Amino acid sequence: MKIKNSEEEYDKNDRFSDDTKLYVDIMEKVVKDNEWKKPIRELWEVCSDSMEWVYPDFGTEAFLSQIYKQSIEHFDIPREVQVLVDANNNLFMSVGTPGFVSFANQDDELYGSEEPMKLPIKCWIHTHPNMSAYFSGTDWATIDTWKGNLDSAIVLGQGEMWAYDCKTEIGKHVSFIKTNSGRYSVTEGEE
Ligand SMILES: [Zn+2]
Repeated sequence: MKIKNSEEEYDKNDRFSDDTKLYVDIMEKVVKDNEWKKPIRELWEVCSDSMEWVYPDFGTEAFLSQIYKQSIEHFDIPREVQVLVDANNNLFMSVGTPGFVSFANQDDELYGSEEPMKLPIKCWIHTHPNMSAYFSGTDWATIDTWKGNLDSAIVLGQGEMWAYDCKTEIGKHVSFIKTNSGRYSVTEGEE
């Protein structure tokens, strides 16, 4: 199986398959499944007061890791998920295909909650399951659409993340690497 590297590549294929019955059936089931949100909300309860979205610290990274984990592990296949943190610190979440996520057919998440979403959005977080963390053309378009009402945006990919401050246009790109190979080469010949 060919591994796709770009979100655009996914976009094209996923949207063309929109009208197949199987796709509709699966998406209906996925959208109705709210279980994936629970671990994220539980963690949010204990850490929401101390989030650093623009330059994520250890606690913020732990929360982001939980979102990525759900995106990879919870569904039938790895799927993109997004989490909006609004001005009241409420979370709004949705799930999509491996390469695309929106609130289409999931707008009860936006309008059905006790408190309506309050602007500006503190952070728009979404995942690129098993892909690199970068802002695709679609993502920049979303950021432009929200201009003035979005403080920060974060993409979570495989072993890396990219946080972006919409006001200063400065980002923090973090990659997590396994350092074993480096360690062994350094100690070689010491004995
Ligand atoms: Zn994206």
